[in-house]
Amino acid sequence: MKKDFATIKLNKHITPLLKLRGHHLICLHFFSGEGYSPEFVENLREILRESEDGKGIEVCKGADEVCKKCPYLKEEKCFYSLNAEAGIREMDRRAVKLLGVKIGDRINWMGIWEKVPAIFVEWAKEYCNDCDWRKVCERTIKYKRLIKR
Ligand code: SF4
Repeated sequence: MKKDFATIKLNKHITPLLKLRGHHLICLHFFSGEGYSPEFVENLREILRESEDGKGIEVCKGADEVCKKCPYLKEEKCFYSLNAEAGIREMDRRAVKLLGVKIGDRINWMGIWEKVPAIFVEWAKEYCNDCDWRKVCERTIKYKRLIKR
């Protein structure tokens, strides 16, 4: 029987998990090598390498493995702009709802990717138009394909 991506059981005592917040489960698919700093980009590359290699992911709330190397993170909060923290948390809530996962779910990267096409038009309408990273995401083949659907 095919396992649902959100119900894959990982042994939490022996399997280290990558913790990722909601909006990163969508936006990271369009990473193209740019970011806030060299350290941030290197961390992102490593996260994606591990995720694509099949390392388990736990859906988390608030700052995650990506945020920890971000220069705008202070005391676990996002200071990218005024009200950034509230805006990002709302984005996370929307992402997990659209993807049909919950905080604490253990998932895998390819399973999440399979869900993205069905929700992407809605996501792009709500978030991509006003996003500072839009031009970077638009360069990726994945983004181009999904936005045309
Ligand atoms: S444009 Fe912004 S909101 Fe849209 S996928 Fe890229 S990073 Fe995420």
